[in-house]
Amino acid sequence: MAELKSKTLWDLFYDICKIPNPSGHEEKLCCFLKTVAAEAGLSCKVDKAGNLLIEKPASPGREKCKSVIMQGHLDMVPQMIAGLDFDFKTDAIVPVTDGEWIKASGTTLGADNGIGTAAAMAVLLDDSLEHGPLKALFTVEEEVGLRGASEVDPEFLDADILLNLDSEDEGEIFMGCAGGARLQTEFNIEWTELKPATKAYRVSVSGLPGGHSGCDIHQNRGNAIKLIVDLLRNVSSVLDLNVSILDGGTLDNAIPREAFAIVTVPEDEGEVLETATQMFAAGARAQHNFNYPIMEVAEEWDMPSKTWSPEFLRKVLNSLHECPHGVIAWSKDFPGVVETSTNLAVVESSRTDLRIKTSQRSFSNADRAALTEKISKHFDAVGGKSTVDNEYPGWKPNPESEIVNLVCSIYKELFKAEPRKTAIHAGLECGLMGNKNPNIDMVSFGPDIKNPHSPSEQVSIASVDRFYQLLTEVVSRIK
Ligand SMILES: [Zn+2]
Repeated sequence: MAELKSKTLWDLFYDICKIPNPSGHEEKLCCFLKTVAAEAGLSCKVDKAGNLLIEKPASPGREKCKSVIMQGHLDMVPQMIAGLDFDFKTDAIVPVTDGEWIKASGTTLGADNGIGTAAAMAVLLDDSLEHGPLKALFTVEEEVGLRGASEVDPEFLDADILLNLDSEDEGEIFMGCAGGARLQTEFNIEWTELKPATKAYRVSVSGLPGGHSGCDIHQNRGNAIKLIVDLLRNVSSVLDLNVSILDGGTLDNAIPREAFAIVTVPEDEGEVLETATQMFAAGARAQHNFNYPIMEVAEEWDMPSKTWSPEFLRKVLNSLHECPHGVIAWSKDFPGVVETSTNLAVVESSRTDLRIKTSQRSFSNADRAALTEKISKHFDAVGGKSTVDNEYPGWKPNPESEIVNLVCSIYKELFKAEPRKTAIHAGLECGLMGNKNPNIDMVSFGPDIKNPHSPSEQVSIASVDRFYQLLTEVVSRIK
């Protein structure tokens, strides 16, 4: 029964697989959906950013019901196994059934968010379904910084309820997500003459597991920047140590896995440096079950011509040591979910300046802004110049949300199981949408999708059928 009902969804999904849609190249898929909508007599609008809105009037007698937007994104993450001859801009994804799951042949499948898109379209095409005023909104470039959602025409969000169909755990009903910001601080490096009779070394920290600053920040996996800073502070207490380069981390949303410094010490003290480093490393490994970090000292043949002044070095090491990193607060509403966090993400030094990047996330925009300001003042008090960019709002969980409670009660009724109401510490488009229409009541749910954004992405067939059953039931029961 459920399979019969979701036949249109599956047909649409297989059509979507044939249409190339990597981020930034959504126009073919947009065009296909417009054609399908036009054939069904539905009206379409595209905004300046390229987001598509399709509208369906209410069933007779349901005109006064709350209006609903079903929302998904048009783009997919283009990832494939090494050596595959495949062009995401021109080639069709080849879905294959593997038992209870559907996956692709060596590429991402695009179930994220092809299933959500197909589901919203299937609802629009089902004339037997009774519903109030209904819209489907499909955004562009979700996977590359939520660009479509951040530029969506606010008129597209004129509705009472938004159903985001872009989550990946059946049985989890999402009611909130973190917002974020990136802080960049620049210091002008103060230099001094290289001391005579010194030798240069490259000191490095590596072997850390790293991870995503939204999903893994609570795992205490260590931070390569923090470790190298503490190592240098420690070694400075036993040696006359100077620094001319300090680098660590790569991306503001990744927890740093590696860092290194070019240091100079008196030429007969190389062994002291090595011993102090290995002692410090052993202590750090004891904190991480002896699995990591690796700390190495290698002779550097490229002698620097100058080193940082002792005052500048002290200032940088102390301020990085004191800079917060990790979980700042846990959610009171969702056990085990992080409310507010910060990632000390990148340190890079050049001949003129030292740049530090940190990123903050929180369900609360006010808490995130306060934390960003605190860290910016922390660095600026010792001569840094901080700027904030890449700011996007969070979606504050609302325990009173009518739509969240309706989805949960229908889920329980249909599947005789308790769904888990939760929130995620990473970003969803809902944060940006809710910011443009603060009165909209939002929820996010979807089928089971494993390993999204990787060539082993797969979607559970039975879970899609149940997801579609839930979606149609929710749409038809909103009064
Ligand atoms: Zn997605």
